[in-house]
Amino acid sequence: MARGKTSRFDPEAALRPAIRALPGYQGVEDLETVAAAYGVRAEDVIKLDGNENPYGPAPRALAALRGDYPVHRYPDAEQRKLRAALGRHVGVDPASVVVGAGSDELIEILFRLFVDAGDRILVATPTFGMYDFDGRLHGAEVVDVPRTEDWSLDAEGLLDAAAGARAVFIPSPNNPTGGLLPVALAERLLETGALVVIDEAYIEFAHAESLARRAATEPALAVMRTFSKWGGLAGLRVGYGVMAPAIVDLILRAKQPYNVSIAAEVGALATLEDAAVLDDRACVLAGERERMAKALRALGWVAPWPSEANFLLCRLTRFDGRAVRDALRRRGVFVRYFETPRLRDHIRMSMGTPEQNDRVLEVFAEVERELGAAGG
Ligand code: PMP
Repeated sequence: MARGKTSRFDPEAALRPAIRALPGYQGVEDLETVAAAYGVRAEDVIKLDGNENPYGPAPRALAALRGDYPVHRYPDAEQRKLRAALGRHVGVDPASVVVGAGSDELIEILFRLFVDAGDRILVATPTFGMYDFDGRLHGAEVVDVPRTEDWSLDAEGLLDAAAGARAVFIPSPNNPTGGLLPVALAERLLETGALVVIDEAYIEFAHAESLARRAATEPALAVMRTFSKWGGLAGLRVGYGVMAPAIVDLILRAKQPYNVSIAAEVGALATLEDAAVLDDRACVLAGERERMAKALRALGWVAPWPSEANFLLCRLTRFDGRAVRDALRRRGVFVRYFETPRLRDHIRMSMGTPEQNDRVLEVFAEVERELGAAGG
């Protein structure tokens, strides 16, 4: 206390340098706020901007969540029941499974464990923004190896950069571009010395094998999965990771003990009992993806990229991305627009139910007339 006059706490001056430069995470906008701003009723909105599941939760999950469960107690910090059920679901030992408040939380814990200030992590944009956000939060150097013109990965660039990196984060299918990580490239990345995090948030909609079983015994690989897309539980916040038991143990040590709420546990367990219903819905949504891609392409000004996920990234050849997003919003259809140079002429839309998608196609035709008449 010999430093002379003490001054009052100044949050700006005290802020960690890594946070000072942190742009806030640009998440999905709040439904009711956007609806009010665009003069539409929230209950009429067809919400396709968050890659959520238009069918909502599985019937057994809804019933269980409406039932009686002990919310006055703390949940099991070691998540025994849920890890056992997930082990059966994925076909791995429960010792290789760990659960988070969304896969977002598990991704952040991987940073907590392995990424120090100044360490390098690798992403391939355009991609899910959370890796970059967490990287900056932890003071890491986020190295981008951008995807090519057709959104393929730059394999050689990634392998070169991975050699000096602590971790590589790649979704498969990728958000927002929809394509898969080639397995041969994954194999080569595993040899680089970096932790390879493959984020399979959308794998249930893809014609592809999950790498989760491989991850259970491969210390260089962590596979992330979630209940937010296939499971229709985005608001409940449950995701899980499959990885070597040694990494699971580290996560259990470094996580907040009660990270998965009792409600999340109840909802997730009941969801797994209804896996067949959710698989059927995922199948319908994957079929809708192909139907919508064809119908949108037929409009002549919307060019969807091939996708293995529950959404389509569409290039717009005639009108500006923001103008289309806004015109759709005024008619109650919410899609995602990204304000980045490479995606400025794109929108991303997840699949609604077949009935919703029929309406979406009508709305696209209306938008074409409106923007065309405005001289677009
Ligand atoms: N990974 C990817 C690739 C995603 O697109 C998303 C959702 N936008 C998430 C993870 C987040 O999943 P969760 O809701 O489980 O945190």
